[in-house]
Amino acid sequence: MSPQTFDYIIAGGGLAGLSLAHRINRSLLRDRRLLIIDREEKVANDHTWCFWSDADVGFEDIVFHRWKKLGFFTFDGEQLSLDIGSEGFEYRMVRASDFYSYVIPKLRDCPSVEFLTADILDIRDGEVETSKGNFEARKMVFDSVSVPGYDESRDHNLLQHFLGWNVETEEDAFDPSEAVLFDFRVQQIGECRFIYVLPVSPREALVEFTIFSGSLLEEEEYESNLKDHLENTLGLGEYRIIGRESGVIPMSDAVHDQRPSEKIVRIGTAGGWVKPSTGYSFKRSQQRTEAIVRALESDSPVPVFGSRWKNFLDSVLLDVLEKGTPPAAEVFERLFRRNPSDRVLRFLDEDASVSEDLRLMSTVELGPFTRSALLELARRIRK
Ligand SMILES: Cc1cc2nc3c(=O)[nH]c(=O)nc-3n(C[C@H](O)[C@H](O)[C@H](O)COP(=O)(O)OP(=O)(O)OC[C@H]3O[C@@H](n4cnc5c(N)ncnc54)[C@H](O)[C@@H]3O)c2cc1C
Repeated sequence: MSPQTFDYIIAGGGLAGLSLAHRINRSLLRDRRLLIIDREEKVANDHTWCFWSDADVGFEDIVFHRWKKLGFFTFDGEQLSLDIGSEGFEYRMVRASDFYSYVIPKLRDCPSVEFLTADILDIRDGEVETSKGNFEARKMVFDSVSVPGYDESRDHNLLQHFLGWNVETEEDAFDPSEAVLFDFRVQQIGECRFIYVLPVSPREALVEFTIFSGSLLEEEEYESNLKDHLENTLGLGEYRIIGRESGVIPMSDAVHDQRPSEKIVRIGTAGGWVKPSTGYSFKRSQQRTEAIVRALESDSPVPVFGSRWKNFLDSVLLDVLEKGTPPAAEVFERLFRRNPSDRVLRFLDEDASVSEDLRLMSTVELGPFTRSALLELARRIRK
């Protein structure tokens, strides 16, 4: 039997796949036959996506909470409060469950869109093999499932791994106007370890113990660090754990093959959309799916994303984080202390100009960063 044919197939209906489908469905391409394949029915609140922005990047209707201040605690316990609102920025939270229940019904209502719950077994040029048969794409397969192994020793391959608890307290304990991006009041043990706090009301917050390092911890270690922080550092009295989130995000400068063949475009983590030095990809997924749809509408080639300069800066930052000298807590403290916060946010988003990047880089500890930059240059020449 010949495979069923669609115009586009989206392999993996998670953040990138559904963001792309949503935009296709609202574009001139909405009549094209589209198949979305995922092994799961997406309903669970499996991610809490946050991002900073000074503009509308989409999904404004489902932003669950917004903060105009970002908090930072140094390793020595000094508190910095960054007023990003005065620079036009907000830190926003979108819950995956809201995202799925906003996007999926709209797609299901569209006669040209089909969903298939199946395991994707192989993706060949214009063809997807699944546990429920083979499907062909006349125009393109968008592949968000072929995530590389990140095991090349010549690359920097850190992991961002974390456990978070949604906690509810008996008394007011949190400031819902400020998200704490980095609380470094945690034993560092030669790694980058911090607590991330997203308060959504005075009595409820998502509190995450996060590490940038080469290997994962035992479950109990994440739990004991969280418990210690909640009880001893934050001094919460009675609290209940009402939800949990954990994850592992690649922080790698491996080169992703964004166009492995004529009819395959890799998107999302598989396409290298996760920013190596931060682990963020929500906002990029919106910007990049928008750019893809614009290209498809005008029959132009799908853009290849990323720039050598920004990749180079990521590699240098990853190298410094990997070496741990100076400690990550000092690197981030110095960045936020010596620069206006909008410059740091634009730098981390790759929205800054080269001269802005250089101004920011002039505020870091020059010795270790210069060493890492030279090593990185040599690595690139060898490659
Ligand atoms: C818990 C967590 C929290 C995060 N928080 C943030 C954040 O706050 N801000 C931010 O910018 N980034 C965040 N990230 C990073 C990143 O934004 C997410 O990982 C994001 O979901 C990546 O999008 P994606 O489409 O590449 O992958 P996913 O959203 O994971 O989508 C991939 C989809 O493919 C499906 N799939 C995979 N393999 C197969 C297969 N063989 N067959 C069928 N289906 C398959 C999966 O079921 C999944 O639905 C977070 C990551 C995690 C894990």
